[in-house]
Amino acid sequence: MAFTTRFAPSPTGRLHLGHVASALRGWRLAAESGGTFLLRVEDIDTVRCRPEFIADLYEDLAWLGLSWPQPVRRQSQHMPDYRRVLDNLQARGLLYPCFCTRRDIAEAASAPHHAPDGTLVYPGTCRHMDPALRAEWLAAGKPHALRLDMAAAMRLPGARELTWHDLGHGPRTCQPQLFGDVVLARRDVPASYHLCVTHDDALQGVNLVTRGEDLMAATALHRLLQHVMGWPAPCYSHHPLLCDDTGRRLAKRDGAVSIRAMRAAGMTPQQVCAAAGWPDHISAVSTAARSH
Ligand code: GLU
Repeated sequence: MAFTTRFAPSPTGRLHLGHVASALRGWRLAAESGGTFLLRVEDIDTVRCRPEFIADLYEDLAWLGLSWPQPVRRQSQHMPDYRRVLDNLQARGLLYPCFCTRRDIAEAASAPHHAPDGTLVYPGTCRHMDPALRAEWLAAGKPHALRLDMAAAMRLPGARELTWHDLGHGPRTCQPQLFGDVVLARRDVPASYHLCVTHDDALQGVNLVTRGEDLMAATALHRLLQHVMGWPAPCYSHHPLLCDDTGRRLAKRDGAVSIRAMRAAGMTPQQVCAAAGWPDHISAVSTAARSH
């Protein structure tokens, strides 16, 4: 089967070795299957994402010998696409506005519990809101998020029997209800990661999602959104995260050494690929180029 894979970074910092490991894996699985490797920029959060990080990531990935079809999809340029999905869910009674602040949520959760991805499960306050007050606040333009009515989504035929397949982890079952009423459009950004990632994978024909194991828990929720929207179920390949010498996972916020810094220090693409766990990447790129 020819795989369409993608590397979908959020440009909130510079790429580090963990990103390279993930990108090279996506590239390899596509190349070996005669498929396509896509690059997608997940920049809906315009406060945290910065244009210079986008320019840098294109340059770093090209330096590593990667290439990808143009144009690259930049999520921030496609907000109307996500709005259409939200309108569809709203029309079907699967979405409701939530006016709660973080503080309201923390205070309302008498026995707070957490979703499989570690986020706080929403206690459902605004789901039970008086319709007249809701209409009044909406008309007044009061800031709000949009949440999925999880119970309503789980009542759709087939929602309780969802599964997915992971190349490394095998067949998996899903319990999306553990996430509660997740946010699909934020107060500050009119979309959410879960919505955009599933929409774009479907739109771009991604049939193998390669990403780190930190995002594995979210897959149950993504399968539900795919089911609700009638989008195809891709195959998945969640890979272990790279760790530093002390065993801590590499992360931008902890100041993991950037590829840019490695380049500046004189490392070659070969050395960087080897450090990311792909010592034969550069030769695989030239083999792939010869066979085209
Ligand atoms: N944009 C996400 C991130 O940088 C990855 C999305 C995904 O691979 O599903 O963490």
